[in-house]
Amino acid sequence: MFRNFHEVVNNVSKTIQKHETELDRPVIGVMPAYFPLELIEAAGGYPVQLWGNNLAIEKADAHLQSYCCSVARSAMELELRDAAHMVKAYAFTSLCDTLINLREIYRRVFTKPTLELSIPITRTEQARHNYLTSVVKSVIDGLEEITGNKITSESLSNAAKLHGRTRELQRRLYRIRREKPGIVKNHDFYTAIKTGFFLPADVYNRMLEDLLQNLADLEGGQGDRPKLLLCGMVFDPLEIYKIIDELEAYVVDDDFANGWRTVSKDGLNADNLVEGITDFLFNPAPCCCIYNPDNDRHPYLLEKVKQSGAEGVLFWYIKFCEPDAFDRPQLMKHLKDAGVPVAFIDLELTMTNFDAVRTRISAFCEMLEK
Ligand code: SF4
Repeated sequence: MFRNFHEVVNNVSKTIQKHETELDRPVIGVMPAYFPLELIEAAGGYPVQLWGNNLAIEKADAHLQSYCCSVARSAMELELRDAAHMVKAYAFTSLCDTLINLREIYRRVFTKPTLELSIPITRTEQARHNYLTSVVKSVIDGLEEITGNKITSESLSNAAKLHGRTRELQRRLYRIRREKPGIVKNHDFYTAIKTGFFLPADVYNRMLEDLLQNLADLEGGQGDRPKLLLCGMVFDPLEIYKIIDELEAYVVDDDFANGWRTVSKDGLNADNLVEGITDFLFNPAPCCCIYNPDNDRHPYLLEKVKQSGAEGVLFWYIKFCEPDAFDRPQLMKHLKDAGVPVAFIDLELTMTNFDAVRTRISAFCEMLEK
């Protein structure tokens, strides 16, 4: 059922090259997170999401300090090794200091065009809206220059429908997993979500539709296994889900920036783009990288635990990610005070030895089973 998803994730370059040739559209690498893919689609580009990879870091250390997160270092390694030659341009968001600086480094080191969707740090909806008015215009101008196509209201509306449909289908997959824990292996589930980073949206949507149909009549797994909610920025390395599968634990929900925080976003309002993008960036799930005092992560996460039936929260910390590290201690305390067991693992996307991670997850699952 998941074979075609695994094929994509195991052959990313080949997959992108194949579709680039078929579509004859410029590939635009989206540096995480929350850049509305709809804009790239509407400009006639082919968006692929680059949330880091597992390449050993050989060249990127000449440009980035070793205590920079492995998302940034491995993304840069890809370009330095000329392994991203199909990517014609990069679209960044100003999610964290690392990404802001990474874009500056890309501008100096590489010749490919880059653009940035700068996310405001302001208290009010009106201030966000005002700030984004000029940002959205400059992003659109930049995209039109890269692709050579004008974004029209029709192309925008079609793109909004297409990518809105993707997230709707992904939400259905999340719901099935919540309602029938164990119905899908954890490794298969995240492979299916990750596949969407690399495929054209219409191709991916068809794969998800087939998958959902195949899952419709299946039952969940045994009811007495530990149920986990995962929380972090990036749901990689996928290898860890094999360990969770071996331990027969069920991930019932997540709060990943490239998981539910993105999947939960509604269709982009293409009729009023600035309003639509403001809403897209700030809602509905709170994020450690988005300043929004009206959307507090503490009650949000606790509510998510209750609604998903999770018995414990595993914090999935990508080393040196500052925004995540600043939020985690308070979030863990808040959950603990409410009686929710918590644990954390620290990771690098480039890691190859998972023994310590296995020991930690296994101990956490044993604790939940007592
Ligand atoms: S993992 Fe954290 S530090 Fe790294 S790019 Fe993402 S938000 Fe920034």
